[in-house]
Amino acid sequence: MQVVEKILRKTYQGKRIGPEEGLALLQSGEFQKVGQAADYVRRQKCPDGVVSFLIDRNISYTNVCVARCTFCNFYRKPEAEGGYILSLESIFKKIEETLELGGTGILMQGGMHPDLKIDYYENLLSSIRERYSIHLHCFSPPEVVVLARLSKISIREAIRRLKAAGLVSIPGGGAEILTERMRKKISPGKCTADQWLEVMRIAHEEGLLTTATMMIGGGETLEERIEHLDRLRRLQDETGGFVAFIPWNVQLEGTPMQASISRKVGPVEYLTLLAVSRIYLDNFRNLQVSWLTQGLSVAQIALHFGANDVGSIMIEENVMSTAGAHNTATRENLLTVIEEAGFTPAQRDTLYQTFRRIA
Ligand code: SF4
Repeated sequence: MQVVEKILRKTYQGKRIGPEEGLALLQSGEFQKVGQAADYVRRQKCPDGVVSFLIDRNISYTNVCVARCTFCNFYRKPEAEGGYILSLESIFKKIEETLELGGTGILMQGGMHPDLKIDYYENLLSSIRERYSIHLHCFSPPEVVVLARLSKISIREAIRRLKAAGLVSIPGGGAEILTERMRKKISPGKCTADQWLEVMRIAHEEGLLTTATMMIGGGETLEERIEHLDRLRRLQDETGGFVAFIPWNVQLEGTPMQASISRKVGPVEYLTLLAVSRIYLDNFRNLQVSWLTQGLSVAQIALHFGANDVGSIMIEENVMSTAGAHNTATRENLLTVIEEAGFTPAQRDTLYQTFRRIA
């Protein structure tokens, strides 16, 4: 029996595969076989035939940042022209627009601002909570690490205080690739892989659910992709606090990284990674395809390669859009993608609870 068939037989038998086996699948070139197995796993985990979507908005409260990610066109150095911190009024206006469009949550993230301490974040969250009934999914692990350090408090205290002020869940941004080699190369000012995982562990212990992401195409090896998946799977075994995994491919337009990367991640490479993620992350229920970076056509095929969620219509997004992600989607576009793929669409909330099936 061929190596790939042997590995996939374990998947069909409901057995876990190891890192070497995951790597062999990524290297195999057996795009269709791996996709078929991922589709099988997805149907086992989500037998209801539902594909979910979300209506929410990304709000970037500041673009001032000291992290110097090589794939980012969005940030401004402190003191540079064009740097901003959004006023509360402007954030409130964005929230009101989101609610008017049927939105249920906001994903609020920003740069690593060198001056903003815990009291700024507490005030931001509590001011929103006092006025609006909307899910607050905010501050990725690198932001939590920086704000805790600036405030001279522990990560746990920072998370407790943010939760008390209204934080409901934490987005999995800033993971990129969870290896030190890659982080030093592409996000030199961001927290380490260990710190990213530590923030998530503490958040889960403190009762906050989170998502997890992965950014591919920045020069990582296939071994590093598997290492990333393996670190997530091990933490999920311990805490069960991740509600979804969202892989996306880096956008390069006009970024410092562009000069060092010779080719973009195409659909076959993306879908293979997506399918291997579905097989490898056997303790994750939800797998989201990134239509923003792959387009709606690939998103539709992804629903047969392990994905059970198409994410948000993203009323606003800043980091990927300023680096070349020009895809857009309305609610109707997402419904069409899902229905034409043979699934039932359902609007969900930020924590992947579906609340409105669209028959
Ligand atoms: S991706 Fe985020 S953390 Fe990195 S430079 Fe841009 S704003 Fe800063």
